[in-house]
Amino acid sequence: MLNFQNTELAFKLRSDEELRSARFLFSSISNPRLVRFGSKWALWALRVGLPINGLIRRTVFRQFCGGESIRSCTAVIERMHDRGVQSILDYSAEGKYGEEDLDRTHSIILSTIEYAQEHPGVPLAVFKPTGLGPSAIWTAVSAGKTLNAEQEKQWARAKERIRSLCAAAQRANIPLMFDAEESWMQKAMDDLCLEMMRTFNQERPIVFNTLQMYRHDRLEYLKEIDSISERDGFYIGLKIVRGAYMEKERQRAQERGVPSPIQPDKAATDRDYNAACAFIADRLDRYALVAGSHNEQSAQLLADLLTSNGQKDTDRVYFSQLYGMSDHISFNLAAAGFRVVKYLPFGPIQEVMPYLIRRAEENTSVGGQSGRELQLISEELRRRKG
Ligand SMILES: Cc1cc2nc3c(=O)[nH]c(=O)nc-3n(C[C@H](O)[C@H](O)[C@H](O)COP(=O)(O)OP(=O)(O)OC[C@H]3O[C@@H](n4cnc5c(N)ncnc54)[C@H](O)[C@@H]3O)c2cc1C
Repeated sequence: MLNFQNTELAFKLRSDEELRSARFLFSSISNPRLVRFGSKWALWALRVGLPINGLIRRTVFRQFCGGESIRSCTAVIERMHDRGVQSILDYSAEGKYGEEDLDRTHSIILSTIEYAQEHPGVPLAVFKPTGLGPSAIWTAVSAGKTLNAEQEKQWARAKERIRSLCAAAQRANIPLMFDAEESWMQKAMDDLCLEMMRTFNQERPIVFNTLQMYRHDRLEYLKEIDSISERDGFYIGLKIVRGAYMEKERQRAQERGVPSPIQPDKAATDRDYNAACAFIADRLDRYALVAGSHNEQSAQLLADLLTSNGQKDTDRVYFSQLYGMSDHISFNLAAAGFRVVKYLPFGPIQEVMPYLIRRAEENTSVGGQSGRELQLISEELRRRKG
């Protein structure tokens, strides 16, 4: 059994002061009203130009982000790498959707691939498809709508941005993951990702898709792409997650009077998450897996499976958590000899605010998560006092 309770290992990199500040942060964001009010206030204050950057930098930003630029993440990357935990540079600026912004995001993702090529602490790269093409286009293509001439151009540019990133990833030998987003945009992303896998995964898994197992149809989709890849002879890279947009998905389905794409309950999501990881772990000759989760049971199950298959140290499987969360899982898995990589968000403070607000909301609404962090941090502070 892994020991996820080892707080000394989990928080070795954090000073007492950092832990005290994390304790204050997690106890504050466990209050939903405070999060609602604080988020609105921070967005307003930034909009009207109040000088709150310093306050944000010292609190939520420091907890959940590596820095404002790629280079400024180096210290965190190296510190974690010394403890056996690697990083994925996650450009987390959101809400910028003009063609110039999309081109800028493309060049930043390209820089993360180049950085990864030079730094052993960064084994993978990632992008959000809506950072490279407008949401409206992903939605329209997913729905099979006919695009007008201007939309055709936007779609061609989005595809070319992504194709060129996949080609760069192949040259650098750095696997590149598509993040998964809302279900109504996902079909276009899945189809494009499969095309990229067919092109770039001939010799090894370079392009990865993400499957959200809170969708009841994803296990079936996994089996579908499995047959395609077996028939056509290319590798499959997959990040498996539970899914981040459950409330939004259910609400949209209800508003439109269509069936919800989400599983009936949490147990069904858990079951399919674990089943997908096991399916892939049994086929590592053709697959690579990133298991993106903060769930201890799922981490334990996958760790047991890899250990019993004699594949504990395979470079085909990474456990992955978000920076600033679940260090007890990341650092204990790494100490036990598994490969672990943390998403390390970066970007200018103003632009990563939506990401930070989501982290705060998630820690409020996903029952137990901030409570768990708080309990472990408090335990470690008590242990250090002796
Ligand atoms: C490294 C990493 C990368 C990620 N990348 C993505 C991504 O690309 N796209 C994305 O959407 N998310 C992504 N996520 C977020 C992820 O999908 C989850 O929202 C988050 O990790 C919480 O799930 P969990 O497995 O950690 O743990 P848990 O706390 O065990 O599970 C919580 C999750 O279970 C599901 N759930 C909760 N209640 C119910 C219910 N009543 N019925 C059905 N399902 C329920 C929801 O998905 C919820 O988020 C990523 C997470 C990590 C750690």
